[in-house]
This record gives sequence, structure tokens and C-alpha cells, in this order.
Amino acid sequence: MTERIYMSSPDVTAREEEALVAAMRSGWIAPLGPDVDAFERELADRVGVAHGVALSSGTAALHLGLLTLGVKPGDVVVTSTMTFAATTNAIVYTGAEPFFVDADPVTGNMDPELLREALTLLRREGAHVAAIVPVDLLGKAVDYTSILALAEDFGVPVLADAAESLGASHEGRAAGSFGRASAVSFNGNKIMTTSGGGMLLTDDADFAQHVRYLATQARQPVVHYEHIDIGYNYRMSNLLAALGRAQLSRLDEMIARRREMRELYKELFRDVDGVEVFGAEGDENDNVWLTSILVDEQRTGWAPTELAAFLATDDIESRPLWKPMHKQPVFAGYHGVINGASQTLFETGLTLPSGSALTAEHRARVSGRISDFLGGR
Ligand SMILES: *Cc1c(COP(=O)(O)O)cnc(C)c1O
Repeated sequence: MTERIYMSSPDVTAREEEALVAAMRSGWIAPLGPDVDAFERELADRVGVAHGVALSSGTAALHLGLLTLGVKPGDVVVTSTMTFAATTNAIVYTGAEPFFVDADPVTGNMDPELLREALTLLRREGAHVAAIVPVDLLGKAVDYTSILALAEDFGVPVLADAAESLGASHEGRAAGSFGRASAVSFNGNKIMTTSGGGMLLTDDADFAQHVRYLATQARQPVVHYEHIDIGYNYRMSNLLAALGRAQLSRLDEMIARRREMRELYKELFRDVDGVEVFGAEGDENDNVWLTSILVDEQRTGWAPTELAAFLATDDIESRPLWKPMHKQPVFAGYHGVINGASQTLFETGLTLPSGSALTAEHRARVSGRISDFLGGR
């Protein structure tokens, strides 16, 4: 039996194990504790913002970020259609309506021109647009220069979904530092993990304070637990924060390993007519969380599904790019400015094993199988 090779599995070492055991022995098991405080400070410092609030997931960070912006039922929230469902789910939790914006075909990120169209259309319709939630796709930061300028023109706050982009940057500023606030994720498959967790990052002390309040059941500061708002139980536990601190200390090393995978794929597909590595142009500032290829079937004579099926015979995982939200049955009732770019990415894209835990042996197996596939065509 060969060992299964995953796209992005957790990369943990003795350092994480020691940190977790030390936190447990410290007695700080009951949810919050010194590792949560230190993790918030260390991650906020790394990203270059004033405040971090450690939460149970990236989805929780998006949800509380939206609530703290005042998003409420009847509002519209403009977001990327090319994303994982968590972004849209968080919008729907608030009772607001998501409005989708299609992708730049080169980066897959929200197309600023289509965002302008969307905001103009919604203004004409008299909709109350409460927030814009752009998504840094697969570790490439959005064109924040254009998006933040538009948001400012239309007077709409930005909550950035930086769940996939920790460690990336745009024009010298770290992903996670743009807009009123950002959400990052430490889910098991992300660039760094706490097995499950997330953080809300912001420069605004009141914003962070309100997120902290909502995340701890919205208790008023009196001994008898007075409540005037609906609260949530969304804080990160101290044990997981200890794991997160160890992962953060290895973030650059893990990004470097993912970049080696990216370079391996660039090399493998360099001379293959009809295949390009998605987003490879100008990827120096990306965290290269996942590497995908785009396949032009007319030129290659094979479809991405054929390569996926071939890799699966050797237990190597691969997957299409995110199926756009406007094509998801659950979100079918919502509108957007759609030009088909995200659908094309979905149809032509294939994401390949990209994780930093991949060993030399795994890498050799993946590249060997891809070479076999290409050689047989
Ligand atoms: C992973 C992810 C999330 C959700 O993060 P969780 O920590 O899994 O809740 C949100 N948005 C995007 C774009 C993601 O990739």
C-alpha cells in the first residue's frame, strides 16, 4: 500500500508537540489564557496591525467582523464569487444578502472594474451596501490599491477575507492588514494551523473590543452576567493558541517549502503547450498556499479531470478550483456582476499537492506520476 498524498495536510513538528504539552502542563486548559494573549500579539505584530482577536475559526472571524461593521438583515454585502463557501455563509448568517463579483481571469481575485459596476448598480437600485468582502485567493492578495479606493469612493467599509493569504503581501503591506479588519484562518489545511481556529485583525481598538465581547457570549461587565446583545461562543482555547504560536514561528519556513513545490510545478509544466501554473505571474509576494494549473484542453488534448483521475490511481489528491458561489445551489437566489471568468477557472483548473509537509519522497512521487502522464500523451 502506498501512502496517500494530500493537497495540503498539517505540517507539525516536535516544536508544536512541546508547545501543546507545555500549555497543558501550565494548567491553562480552561478556555482563555496566556498563550491566547501572546498569540494575538505575535500574529498582529507579524501582520503589522494593532489588534488580534483569536477565535474558533476563520468563519467566526468573518461573522463577527460583519456584525461589528453593523451588517444586518436587509443589507447587501458585496463579495467575491470565486471563494470557499465560508465567506458567503458568514454573510448569510447576518441576514444580509450576498452580491457576487466575478474574478480577474489572471489572478482569480475580485475584478475591480466589475466591483465598480456592482457598486454603481446597487447604488442606482437604492440598496444599502453595508460591506465589501474581497477574498485573497489561494494566497495571492487582492488588488487592494484599486479595491480600497473604490470602497472609499462609495463609502463602504472593507472586511478582507485573508483566510488563505497569511504571509502574503500587496505593495509592501502584509495581507491581513487591509480594510477596517481582516479575517485569517488556521484550519487544518491552511498555511499554518491550530487544527481549527481563526483570528480577526484590525488597527481599530474599539472594533477588536467589540469582536471580543461578541465572541464571549456578549456579557456586560457586571458580576451577574447581564446581556443586552446576542452573543457567541467563538473564542480560541489556550491549548490551540500554544499550537498556533509554534506554527507562527515556522511560518516563513513553511512558505518557503510551499514555494519549492510551486517551482517544481513550474519546471514540470514549462514546456507543456496549453498548461499554465495559475497565478504564477508575479507570485513573489504570494504565500503560494496552493498551486493549481490551468489546462486549455484544445491545446493539450487532455482535460484536467483526466490528470486528476490518473493521479488518483496512485492515491495522490488533486481537486478543481473553488466552484463559484453564484453556481452553488444554496446561493442560487442571489445576484451579482458575473462575466464567466470564475466559471472558466473552475472548469480548467486543477489544484495539485502543495503542502509544506510533503517529503522529498512525496515530491518525487508526484512529479514522477505527472511526468508519466505527460509522457503517455
Ligand atoms: C478556509 C477559508 C475560510 C474559513 O476558515 P475556517 O477557519 O475554516 O472557518 C474562509 N474563507 C476562505 C477563503 C477560506 O479559504
